[in-house]
Amino acid sequence: MNLDQRRWETKAVHGGTGGLREAGTHVPPIDMSTTNPLPDVEIGGMSYEELATGHDLGPGRSAVYQRLWQPGVARFEEALAGLEGTDGAVAFASGMAALSACLISIVSAGTPHVVAVRPIYGGTDHVLETGLLGTRVTWTTADDIARHIQTDTGIVIIETPANPTLEMVDIAAVVAAAGDVPVIVDNTFATPVLQRPVEHGATLVLHSATKYIGGHGDAMGGVIAGPTAWVERLRQVRALTGGTLHPMGAYLLHRGLRTLAVRMRAQQESAQILAERLSTHPAVARVAYPGLPGQDPQGLLGRQLDGPGAMIAIDLVDGYAAAARFTEACELATHAVSLGGVDTLVQHPASLTHRPVVGEAKPGAGIVRVSVGLEHVDDLTDDLTTALDAAGAVTPELSATESLVG
Ligand SMILES: *Cc1c(COP(=O)(O)O)cnc(C)c1O
Repeated sequence: MNLDQRRWETKAVHGGTGGLREAGTHVPPIDMSTTNPLPDVEIGGMSYEELATGHDLGPGRSAVYQRLWQPGVARFEEALAGLEGTDGAVAFASGMAALSACLISIVSAGTPHVVAVRPIYGGTDHVLETGLLGTRVTWTTADDIARHIQTDTGIVIIETPANPTLEMVDIAAVVAAAGDVPVIVDNTFATPVLQRPVEHGATLVLHSATKYIGGHGDAMGGVIAGPTAWVERLRQVRALTGGTLHPMGAYLLHRGLRTLAVRMRAQQESAQILAERLSTHPAVARVAYPGLPGQDPQGLLGRQLDGPGAMIAIDLVDGYAAAARFTEACELATHAVSLGGVDTLVQHPASLTHRPVVGEAKPGAGIVRVSVGLEHVDDLTDDLTTALDAAGAVTPELSATESLVG
């Protein structure tokens, strides 16, 4: 039976492993070659021509050079595309390299205008706001996209649930409003375990594979999944600009996919419990988590998102000062940027990941983001509750002003 017809968990374990058994091995080999022998001048030239214009490695061709094609990267891409349900995927050295390739691609196509919805990952916000790659951005809300589409709009960018405050966007509604303009969804927080954006009409799916896909905080990478025409454009950009994923990174990210479903579900289970427990702490003004009552006004859980995920954002009553005390007081949870790994991380978005974000789009000063890991949920409760005690509580009147300022 073809792997495509198998269930999701089976695809996650077996995707991208074709031909291994025949080769007499069990896990994908790590091929570190930066160059590849050429059978003759003719085939070498044709291989280069095909790969540098975004085509896949054809039969009888040489991979030529690691920047053009790499077997472990191709295996990871095939596995990821199987999980997102797309024709293919293109992997990069980081999530930002993946996003950059997409932006370079629209600029070179003569459609440099981007419509984007905030909140969004701070790095994405920053690269769009600076226009560094030649794009021009219009920030809008999810329900006001249609009005901002222009003749040279190349892409609509959304992220759901969004970093850091877990706002959710209705993908199908955005796709409808975007008309002919392709929509790219940053699916880093949900992962394909919980959400497959192409099922709702999105053209492209972006991941920082550094996060849940790798899952262990030891490999950096990014990937965009989508239809063949886009895969070829993105491969060409990658071949010419060089944001390639290292073979070791590809190996680790591919391995991460194999346990993604169980990690995600276990971390989500703890996140739900923690979100409920922490929301009653006196130092907490609000816990943002899609699984809490009233936090899914559009009814996206079950319709678009299969579960609330494992990221929570805690808004502290005493604002910035409390956030600083909280992050310092965590012992089990590490105060560090990034997310999606097996161990719990906490960070303060306003001063770190979302530091470059300006004005109203900046997350509140009292918000701390928690990436819930695989530790026992009672140990996490103890650690975070102790840190919340240290963060302390002040009068609610003060906090209201503070979060307006933040
Ligand atoms: C981390 C992150 C990115 C950027 O990915 P890198 O791998 O750090 O380049 C993009 N989007 C989201 C939602 C992220 O969390």
